[in-house]
Amino acid sequence: MVSYKELGLVNTREMFAKAVKGGYAIPAFNFNNMEQLQAIIQAAAELRSPVILQVSKGARNYANQTLLRYMAQGAVEYAKELGWENPQIVLHLDHGDSFELCKSCVDFGFSSVMIDASSLPYEDNIALTKKVVDYAHKYDVTVEAELGVLAGVEEEVASEVSHYTKPEEVVDFATRTGCDSLAISIGTSHGAYKFKPEQCTRDPKTGRLVPPPLAFDVLKAVEEQLPGFPIVLHGSSSVPQEYVDMINKYGGKLPDAVGIPEEQLRLAAKSAVCKINIDSDSRLAMTAAVRKDLYENPGHFDPRQYLKPARDEMKKMYIQKIVDVLGSDGKA
Ligand SMILES: [Zn+2]
Repeated sequence: MVSYKELGLVNTREMFAKAVKGGYAIPAFNFNNMEQLQAIIQAAAELRSPVILQVSKGARNYANQTLLRYMAQGAVEYAKELGWENPQIVLHLDHGDSFELCKSCVDFGFSSVMIDASSLPYEDNIALTKKVVDYAHKYDVTVEAELGVLAGVEEEVASEVSHYTKPEEVVDFATRTGCDSLAISIGTSHGAYKFKPEQCTRDPKTGRLVPPPLAFDVLKAVEEQLPGFPIVLHGSSSVPQEYVDMINKYGGKLPDAVGIPEEQLRLAAKSAVCKINIDSDSRLAMTAAVRKDLYENPGHFDPRQYLKPARDEMKKMYIQKIVDVLGSDGKA
């Protein structure tokens, strides 16, 4: 048993309370490799932005959970080295799908876990979420739960159709589970192909897909039911078209990749939404930079030659999200 407090990590409780009050959102960035983690920590430290490092089940399988946990511990020390005296860094399990997985993360030094039982029947979702909450709270680890189903593909989490969260369920759910935050479904979606072309309109000037707007009426109804309660948005990459274009230009093939427009995320961040999950944008930034470097420099074979520009591009993207979309800079 390792407590996250010994590792210098924090849970999400105070962070979310401040964010809801202050009308901004905390970035939740997934990581599974060193360059990504360096970029996240550099951006957060320079901007003094609280940050949530997310580990998915897929990341655990890819990078090994022990290694990831020590990387997060290293990230705290690295942040201090960069001059951030009191780093506000959360290590969070993204989409935990069982009590055992959540428990092992709590025992292993995570400061926050998500139990995603949203695909189960309502009462089963409550029962499993409550079981995780009861365990996690013993160790002051915060728990994110989910109500409603997002469309899209995120590693093992895949759904063909989305179901918006039902605002009439949220009070009962939050009260009976004791969860600390709630991921809701209002039309965001996992992956780099968030919407099928038939769900979108096309901008006649650029020929690009214009996605359908988020269901802000659902968000508003949830807020009215649970005033001040921390709300989470998954699948909130904006799939910057400059990266899609770069990838396609340098030999990739991502036709019609489309995400959530940033002006909608900006609006959400000002509401009770206090955690916004961004994963695909970092993958796109990294891939675009690597493709460009290797295309322009066929002689490069030292991974540092193409991973350095990839890291720089990710950092630039993280900074832009923090400052321009979430508004979490200067809050830690
Ligand atoms: Zn998610």
